[in-house]
Amino acid sequence: MTTIHSSANVGEAELIVRDPRTGHIDATITPPGADEVSALAARQRMAQPHWEHAGVDARASAMLAWREALLRHRDALADALERDTGRRAISIMEIDLVLGAIARWAAQAPALLQSNEQPSALPFVRIRSAVSPHALVGVISPWNFPLLLATLDTIPALLAGSAVIVKPSEVTPRFIDVVNAAIDEVPLLRDVFRLIPGAGPTGRSLIDAVDMVCFTGSVPTGRLVAERAAARFIPAALELGGKDPAIVLASADLAHAAPALVWGSVVNTGQSCLSIERVYVHRSRYAELVARIVTLAQAVGLSWPDESHGPIGPVIAERQVSVIASQLDDARARGAVVHCGGVIETHGGGRWIRPTVVTNVDHGMRLMTEETFGPIIPIMAFDSVEEAVRLANDTEYGLSAAVFAGTSDEAIAVADQLHAGAISINDAALTAVMHEGEKHAFKLSGLGGSRMGPASIRRFVRQKAYLVRQGVGHDPWWFPELAAPH
Ligand code: NAD
Repeated sequence: MTTIHSSANVGEAELIVRDPRTGHIDATITPPGADEVSALAARQRMAQPHWEHAGVDARASAMLAWREALLRHRDALADALERDTGRRAISIMEIDLVLGAIARWAAQAPALLQSNEQPSALPFVRIRSAVSPHALVGVISPWNFPLLLATLDTIPALLAGSAVIVKPSEVTPRFIDVVNAAIDEVPLLRDVFRLIPGAGPTGRSLIDAVDMVCFTGSVPTGRLVAERAAARFIPAALELGGKDPAIVLASADLAHAAPALVWGSVVNTGQSCLSIERVYVHRSRYAELVARIVTLAQAVGLSWPDESHGPIGPVIAERQVSVIASQLDDARARGAVVHCGGVIETHGGGRWIRPTVVTNVDHGMRLMTEETFGPIIPIMAFDSVEEAVRLANDTEYGLSAAVFAGTSDEAIAVADQLHAGAISINDAALTAVMHEGEKHAFKLSGLGGSRMGPASIRRFVRQKAYLVRQGVGHDPWWFPELAAPH
């Protein structure tokens, strides 16, 4: 039902797709209509019981077969992701993370879904647990890591026994056909797993057709998704935006902290929910940290004309350019000092921004309170740990954070006071590369169970309890009349 066409004959139902490296509109997608989404959902519902009752070992084998198929399509997948996002090295990292996740989940799922039996408070009743998956899960994902975020929830959901329909972002749809081709090579999987193209309307149709929705994206859209899911009384797992702070205490090793902070802020051109968007450093180390970060940031170049020149790719979504530019304009107008970068550049038709270090910032600036989603590193001094904690928590978000100190214990004592779910200690943005630690999103950054770690798979099952009577006889709470012989 997809799919990607050349740019000729753009019809009303079609959406245009821009190449972030060239700025050219060079493809279109034809989203399925609401009736097509609902027909796909009906077919998957028919197939899901077979998938569920095949058992977790068979599902794990099918997922590993899909992994093999992805490996066979690896070059095509990397090419499609590169055209979607304008960067190749990170696309390959995405593919590797997904291949690793499939293998890890296939190994872990059987034990995590195992039923168990235990005694109860009543000596003659034992409790046996069982799980029942949500039959059909809808996944709606953003453009910043197209493959990774389309599959992060999908892999455990499928292993739990759910069927899954994924709607990736309309900004980055080219990889969809490649993933679907790999799915088609796995007979057990192809009737319960499909990616569909489309934008908001397709996302809405999907929510209307599924039993659970996993949404990754912005807070405003997340709110709409949650409201629509609530109206249907289905669970919605929401993974939303962030404005992640990093705190650098006086005792920190700045030779280590500076490169970690630059990587955590500018990797993927800062287009990461978990990127560091604010740095707070003890005043005694402020000048040294600013100098180190500026030197390092200036050394990190644009991947123009190609990646041999640097790791910073183009801004993927054109609409993000004006967000970044307007936040920088607002900060400058309020007295911020830009040490490097800070200018939207146009090369080859794409829009680019170099790692940008900003000081003289405060929380009256949008740059310090709104999600930027660009390679910007604003740095602010603090005088006490209490002030650092207050500033870090002065946000409506609560996704991730980082704390640097002389010892991990000192850093963890500060992390204990932060309102965020994943906190890198003496490092930055570690959740970009490892997904094993269970964590929740705080405040507006999300809602629902942990998407990371073993608990993630339990979001896709309803827990059942079989209360098993041992032997026969009269229960103490029965009416006396029931004890009479019949
Ligand atoms: P977005 O909210 O604009 O879109 C996300 C997805 O929702 C897209 O697939 C879009 O087509 C779809 N959509 C749009 N309107 C919809 C509607 N009414 N109903 C259903 N679906 C709809 O987000 P984006 O710009 O694609 O992505 C960037 C945002 O994602 C940032 O805020 C970023 O922080 C966030 N994000 C969060 C995480 C996380 O794990 N917390 C990870 C990556 C990105």
